[in-house]
Amino acid sequence: MSLKINQLTKTYSNGVRALDGIDLEIGVGMFGLLGPNGAGKSSLMRTIATLQSADTGSILFNGTDIFANQMDFRKELGYLPQDFGVYPNLSAEELLSYFAQLKGISSTADRKKIVDEVLEVTNLYAVRKKNVSGYSGGMKQRFGIAQLLLNKPKLIIVDEPTAGLDPAERHRFLNVLREIGTSNTVIFSTHIVDDVRELCHELAIVNGGRVLYRGTAQAGEEAL
Ligand code: ADP
Ligand code: ADP
Repeated sequence: MSLKINQLTKTYSNGVRALDGIDLEIGVGMFGLLGPNGAGKSSLMRTIATLQSADTGSILFNGTDIFANQMDFRKELGYLPQDFGVYPNLSAEELLSYFAQLKGISSTADRKKIVDEVLEVTNLYAVRKKNVSGYSGGMKQRFGIAQLLLNKPKLIIVDEPTAGLDPAERHRFLNVLREIGTSNTVIFSTHIVDDVRELCHELAIVNGGRVLYRGTAQAGEEAL
């Protein structure tokens, strides 16, 4: 798996230059994107998720332009946006089973298998019968991860997932990501330095739409 971002720029219609020549190369593992509010993290995440276009530059996934091959690329991608959705009064198990059906998993046994699996990975199995609308913030974030894991994505993008979580919830969430990052590429954005310290082997520090530092978390201690 390789994601190669070349000279990405984006200026919004209000004149804000959110991305100002981003170059990054990202492989398997936990990659942290650290920067203050307004740094351009969400803009970069949404662009990688092919939800918005860049003005110039390119993003290659295993050598192929993600926009040229958008439908195939999205099948490999799991994206957890910063604001998670509003959920109906259905249990996690019911909702996940419904999403699995929408994805074309028609056999009940196959659906149960994948749903149980993603509930286990996200540590929600014990509360699978509870309505997601009543979940805590941390549980909702983990439910968001469970939902995107149904696709078995190779590349997972999570935008500021720990914002607003209390310390216990944050730890549970980071543990889930750590597990997923052992065999996948996880790009994780945050403005919390400790998130990156605890979780990521590599990081980029962004500000003003530029990459200020790119390297290992250890070598980055000074930059942090
Ligand atoms: P971060 O995720 O690091 O907080 P963003 O990518 O959300 O950064 O924002 C980068 C800059 O772009 C900010 O100045 C923000 O106000 C601006 N911005 C973000 N989205 C839009 C948009 N849709 N239209 C105009 N300006 C935007
Ligand atoms: P937080 O709200 O801090 O994220 P959790 O709700 O995730 O903490 O609690 C951890 C674990 O405790 C859950 O994964 C689940 O197994 C169990 N749990 C949490 N809330 C409930 C609940 N309302 N009913 C039953 N078990 C629960």
